[in-house]
Amino acid sequence: MVTELIAVGTEILLGNIVNTNSAYLSEKCAELGLAVYYQSVVGDNPDRMKRVIKTALDRSDVIILTGGLGPTEDDLTKEITAEVMGFPLVEDLHTKELMEAYLKEYEKNHPQRRITKNNYKQTMVPKGSIVLDNHNGTAPGLIMEKKGKTAILLPGPPNEMVPMFEESVYPYLRKKQPEIIYSRMVKICGIGESQVAEEIQDLIEKQTNPTIAPYAKTGEVHLRITAKAEDEKKCKEMIKPIVHELKKRFGKDVFATKEEKTLEEAVVDLLKEKNMTLSLAESCTGGAVAARIVNVPGASEALMCGFVTYTNRAKRKCLGVKKSTLKNEGAVSAKCAKEMAKGGAKAAETDVCLSVTGLAGPGGGTEETPVGTVFMGCCCAGKTTTREFHFTGNRSRIRGQAVAQALTFIRDSLLECPSLRRATGILGFL
Ligand code: ATP
Ligand code: MG
Repeated sequence: MVTELIAVGTEILLGNIVNTNSAYLSEKCAELGLAVYYQSVVGDNPDRMKRVIKTALDRSDVIILTGGLGPTEDDLTKEITAEVMGFPLVEDLHTKELMEAYLKEYEKNHPQRRITKNNYKQTMVPKGSIVLDNHNGTAPGLIMEKKGKTAILLPGPPNEMVPMFEESVYPYLRKKQPEIIYSRMVKICGIGESQVAEEIQDLIEKQTNPTIAPYAKTGEVHLRITAKAEDEKKCKEMIKPIVHELKKRFGKDVFATKEEKTLEEAVVDLLKEKNMTLSLAESCTGGAVAARIVNVPGASEALMCGFVTYTNRAKRKCLGVKKSTLKNEGAVSAKCAKEMAKGGAKAAETDVCLSVTGLAGPGGGTEETPVGTVFMGCCCAGKTTTREFHFTGNRSRIRGQAVAQALTFIRDSLLECPSLRRATGILGFL
């Protein structure tokens, strides 16, 4: 069923308020399996509202309007929609009773405020429409059905719209559209979007239900698998073999199959699982890797220390990087990254230390070491490896990519590291 959302209100067009109603409704419609092909915003202008509503009714089965249901002159949504669909307005006694009770209570709590006559405008409803009670305000919601088309009118304030949608509209639409949409996310790190797309080309080509949609995030690729079926259980059954196939194809690069799980969480979980501790020795990322790790509640069990060693002197003093390395190879070099990681692990007495040193620009680039060159080192249970990257983009993009790759590097090193040193105890290790 094609569904269209229309937010009414000049203040949305002016950017004074953010259209959170449409964002919320879009998400709910997706959950209900309704295809939202259009969203529009229209000001409180009768002619333009008429045009938008007519167009929407022409191309969609269900239209959901929010806003403009209140008592003032510029609240016109009900009047205009009823006119376009050919519904006369009649007084609704039930709404009148509810409104009077609500206003009485309101006056009691706000003695200084007087309720004006124009509130009664809200007791008029399109003849034959379904009236939805508003427990958080006075304007009722309305559903009008005619010739296979449905218009749903909801109040603008989110604290009225959301409960009304959940209580009345969701079950109404659920009956109209018995199929639901359910999705799972497979998150991948360490490989680029184009490579991921290439590896699943065959799956994407033959997809109908479920579908696979890739989204690129800095240093990560997310694949959303979406199924449409009569209930969640059936959707899950349909999605399971696809998740299985993706895990098979991308192996260790899959770091999460849950929407809410982040890359830093995957890293912290792995550290905890292996009972290992982490320190960081950062230069060009300036503590941003540490900040990502600290996003995870309970990170203190794994992260012991973070060095931000921006100058050569700090690299030497805090991490023990050799003077000769800095002189001969420079601070942006594999050797420096290696010594930073080794020195960091030693100074912080951790099992793992990840180092980052690079040129985020915009200045400072040379022919041999252009802007975007970043070296990382990872010292994991005594073994230190390095990686070299050449990122593109501005300073913040380069640093963002470096952070994501640093997290991936820690994760890869942990996955490769066979020892569960402290978990099995020193004797076990020996
Ligand atoms: P009222 O009875 O309060 O006049 P209404 O149904 O007439 O409600 P509007 O007058 O259009 O709705 O909007 C009232 C308030 O609701 C706005 O000032 C804004 O705070 C909020 N609102 C309206 N539309 C939206 C929207 N699309 N997204 C988020 N908030 C909204
Ligand atoms: Mg209003």
